[in-house]
Amino acid sequence: MFGIGKKCFFCRKKAVSPRCYVADTGKQVSVCVHCVPYAERRAFRKC
Ligand SMILES: [Zn+2]
Repeated sequence: MFGIGKKCFFCRKKAVSPRCYVADTGKQVSVCVHCVPYAERRAFRKC
């Protein structure tokens, strides 16, 4: 399968079904399902 190839912002692994978040720097990042709690804790906003 040809994935998008996005890597998770936190664990740096290839995110299977990445969620889009906006970091506090204003940059859009991909976060895998496992790391969504980290993003929530860091007050990342959903795109
Ligand atoms: Zn991750």
